[in-house]
Amino acid sequence: MPTALISGVTGQDGSFLAEQLLAKGFRVVGLYRRLSAENHWRIAHLEGRLELHCADLLDLGSLMNVMEETRPDWIFNLAAQSFVPTSWQQPLLTGEVTALGAARMLEAFRRCAPMARFYQASSSEMFGNARESPQDERTPFSPLSPYAVSKVYAHQLAGTYRSAYGLFVVCGILFNHESERRGMEFLTRKVSHGVARIKLGLQEGLRLGDLAPRRDWGFAGDYTRAMQAMLALDAPQDLVIASGQDRSVEDFVSAAFAQVDLDWRDHVQEDQSLYRKNELPCLRGDSTVARSLLNWAPKVGFQALVKRMVEADLKRLA
Ligand code: NAP
Repeated sequence: MPTALISGVTGQDGSFLAEQLLAKGFRVVGLYRRLSAENHWRIAHLEGRLELHCADLLDLGSLMNVMEETRPDWIFNLAAQSFVPTSWQQPLLTGEVTALGAARMLEAFRRCAPMARFYQASSSEMFGNARESPQDERTPFSPLSPYAVSKVYAHQLAGTYRSAYGLFVVCGILFNHESERRGMEFLTRKVSHGVARIKLGLQEGLRLGDLAPRRDWGFAGDYTRAMQAMLALDAPQDLVIASGQDRSVEDFVSAAFAQVDLDWRDHVQEDQSLYRKNELPCLRGDSTVARSLLNWAPKVGFQALVKRMVEADLKRLA
């Protein structure tokens, strides 16, 4: 039985990935960090099947110990300080976890499990205010937040470890992917949760920042399938994973309210104090290479994604 090790297993992507790998017969080792209050709600349904180890991306020794103990065949580095606005409030922590944490994961892998295959969670945010649209594997990076800069560092270091040490390392440059397991601070979840509360009469309005930015949104469970396919490639290669379609924040908001037969204009206030620094006007990915190499395509479209998020929040609140 092959062993997959996932850092960030308590996060959105980690939970879908663990679920899918377990269904395929993998032994799945998940890393979680010690917190004063446990936050394992996304993986609660996997209890007993998932092997959990306490390790922190800030602590190289803990990462080396778990790799030595568990001898993984596949390693997924999904752990990160992943929220762009927090990266402005805590730029050094973001660098420590998202950039240097990836360096620690790569070092632990190189020293303790060099025969394994390594996946690094890179991000479309690395493209920043890209001059070309859509963005693909050849588009230059132009990061515009501490989060994006940290991801570029991790991405470049992963490629350097691949070329210098001959290790099997791939970076998935993933565009936004969402689900009912998205953290509450992220825009899409703030909207789906807000819509559900308004529908149930628990709140009246929803204050949001800029409604104009456009993003390429997909479903997290589709994107974690692509991660696995990347580690199964014959030769390591970095790939863009995206839906190929961009929609505005307003499109998302409007679709979410329409799910519950409400008009968003009656409930949403655009609040300039919530506008983000260096907001990127549009990100849209071209995943032509991945689609053909991995035989991958997303199964959940935009409307279906919005529907499942709103329905899940309605169910939770009811
Ligand atoms: P997420 O829900 O925020 O999960 C992040 C995970 O990292 C959590 O399990 C978190 O643990 C863990 N973590 C944070 N700091 C840590 C530390 N010091 N040591 C160990 N673990 C730590 O993120 P996601 O949406 O699943 O995304 C997965 C990865 O893909 C991230 O690297 C993200 O930056 C990247 N990415 C995401 C998207 C997207 O649209 N979702 C797009 C491109 C790239 P706690 O639960 O303890 O906080």
